[in-house]
Amino acid sequence: MSCEDCKSKDTCKSKGEGCKEESLKLASRYGSIKNIIGVISGKGGVGKSTVTGIMAAMLAKKGYKVGVLDADITGPSMPRFFGINNKRAKIIPLENDMVKFEPVETDSGIKIISMNLLTAVEDEPVIWRGPVITGVLKQMFVETNWGELDYLLIDMPPGTGDIALTVMQEFPINEIVIVSTPQDMVSMIVKKVVIMAQKIGVKIKGVVENMAYINCPDCDKKIRVFSRKSSEENADYLGIPLIGELPINIDLTEALEEGRAEEYVKEDPLYALIFEGLY
Ligand code: ADP
Repeated sequence: MSCEDCKSKDTCKSKGEGCKEESLKLASRYGSIKNIIGVISGKGGVGKSTVTGIMAAMLAKKGYKVGVLDADITGPSMPRFFGINNKRAKIIPLENDMVKFEPVETDSGIKIISMNLLTAVEDEPVIWRGPVITGVLKQMFVETNWGELDYLLIDMPPGTGDIALTVMQEFPINEIVIVSTPQDMVSMIVKKVVIMAQKIGVKIKGVVENMAYINCPDCDKKIRVFSRKSSEENADYLGIPLIGELPINIDLTEALEEGRAEEYVKEDPLYALIFEGLY
């Protein structure tokens, strides 16, 4: 089977001959992307977008060409993380009612596409049902002018719903990184994502345990706020490797709120320790 046989013109663009299996996957129309990594968690608010942003910043610091697809259509946070929420992505009309999206670039050249860069204003809600949302997400992946990328990170919405299923089944992702926090309630839900990925046959890189501890301001101790279990024990429960543990860090929160997180994480040696060797 060759690419010409593919059912959809959006598929197989870069895979060449013998693309039977890949023919089911989407392909970027305006990009050549070497690696696609999904970042996912079971629950919202555990730091998935934060980890996506840190990973993107660390990959860019290493000199890779990086893009981020904010797949959290109804709760996008990538533009804020990178301080580009006042910018808009260009929507270029083409023939046959098609459009092409120009991503917004951060200071260090990370290409971002997010619903919050496409709506007229940042706080405009997206009031769509699931099938419309998944359709728009596919369009954002396929029709964005990514150019050449070493890594595209996909910030997935929480849970095992429509979007997670679409990304895992239809996007040509290489692997996923899972984000969790040390709470049994969260681990139980995150485990559902692990099992879902395993059932679909998506490779799991490991888990980042976020908000694992705070650094005691008066001593060197790490205080585990949420759980007496270690991050290793929590990763064992999920049955996947532990990538690293991140503290609750008020300086990071402030940097995120103020849109200067990219610079902040690049300068903090902790993030280099955890993420520089990851890819
Ligand atoms: P999710 O994408 O899982 O919904 P976010 O990454 O948006 O979660 O994080 C939720 C909130 O928690 C944000 O306000 C973020 O600034 C904050 N946050 C996440 N991780 C940390 C951390 N390690 N230290 C301090 N604040 C954090």
